[in-house]
Amino acid sequence: MTDQTSAGQSTLSIWGGEQEHELYERSTQVPVVHSVSFTYKDIDTWQDVALEKTPGHIYSRNTNPTVRAFEDKVRELESAEAATSFASGMAAISNVLGSFLKPGDRVVSIKDSYGGTNRIFNDFLPPLNIEVCLCETTDYAQIETEIAKGCQVLYLETPTNPTIKIIDIKRLAGAAKKVGALVVVDNTFATPINQNPLRLGADIVLHSASKYLGGHADALGGVICGSAELVKQVYRYREINGATLSPMDAYSFIRGMKTLKLRVERQNENAMAIANWLQQHPMIEQVNYPGLETHPNHDIARQQMRGFGGMLSFSVTGGLDAIKIFLPKLQYAHMAANLGCVETVVGPPVTTSHVECSAEERAAAGIPEGLVRYSAGIEDIEDLIADLDQALRYLKPQ
Ligand SMILES: *Cc1c(COP(=O)(O)O)cnc(C)c1O
Repeated sequence: MTDQTSAGQSTLSIWGGEQEHELYERSTQVPVVHSVSFTYKDIDTWQDVALEKTPGHIYSRNTNPTVRAFEDKVRELESAEAATSFASGMAAISNVLGSFLKPGDRVVSIKDSYGGTNRIFNDFLPPLNIEVCLCETTDYAQIETEIAKGCQVLYLETPTNPTIKIIDIKRLAGAAKKVGALVVVDNTFATPINQNPLRLGADIVLHSASKYLGGHADALGGVICGSAELVKQVYRYREINGATLSPMDAYSFIRGMKTLKLRVERQNENAMAIANWLQQHPMIEQVNYPGLETHPNHDIARQQMRGFGGMLSFSVTGGLDAIKIFLPKLQYAHMAANLGCVETVVGPPVTTSHVECSAEERAAAGIPEGLVRYSAGIEDIEDLIADLDQALRYLKPQ
């Protein structure tokens, strides 16, 4: 294993998980092992591997060498004992909830979770007789009261989507520990470069690898890290429910992750510069970015994050009509539903995370119709700002 105490994050994102693996024909890169099964020359060895007495692989729905290398890379970056992976970020989330919750249980979470996660909480868990309590995202009094009533899982996400609120993981993990609840944190927006929830008291950290970890918007997957015991419990559930990450996508993540720190540092810088620039623009009503001193959760962000991330959101004067004019004028931004890749990506919540809500529901969730979610890419900052500048000129001051 790579020495976790001495190696830095860039070193870990390059070498992590790679040295433990037998290299095929002396290749320097992790091979893509497409094989569905693994063959043994005698029954005893085969049985020892199947019983997990000897390391090895049996069947790729369970484990696969390329997939394992990706899991180890993320595990080292999150300083975790164990990791396992999934076909998508949503598969990671549904498998974690599915393996930790049973009928009669209760889960406490926040209103601002990712849209898909919110659907699990509102539509899929209640019919299974699992009680879901979704609190106001930064109302600690409410969240702590609900935790104290008893729950099996506290599920958090920070920074949130698309409101970019920050939640104090350490404080709420402390409250959850008192009632014996497991703490799960979606770390997709922050990445392991900017934040390590396990060090703040979380039991499980999870990622949609489709976003920053892969970084090139060309592979779908999810990953979780935590103690060997908890990760094994989720792995047992996933190997039978079958939401396995494919070796080809695992390879794309391994390659993408070699530049994770470089990309995230640049995205942190670009997002900060853009947030500052937008803040002084007359057509911009509000900018949500935790790096701004005016952000209501700036202090918590400073405490628990090493960088403020590449995600921001802002509202434009003139609402939805204005963003329909302005967004298509951007030359260096995809209008798309994803985020966290090398290209800048923009999208209004009305077409992405909150497409199924009514205007009233969005207003209640603090999402103005003129809100834009902005995922800063790694382009040159001068070009991104010039691009925003020319596109915003199409809007008439009111
Ligand atoms: C995209 C995303 C997910 C879901 O991941 P998929 O890979 O699309 O299934 C979960 N949480 C957050 C914060 C996300 O941005």
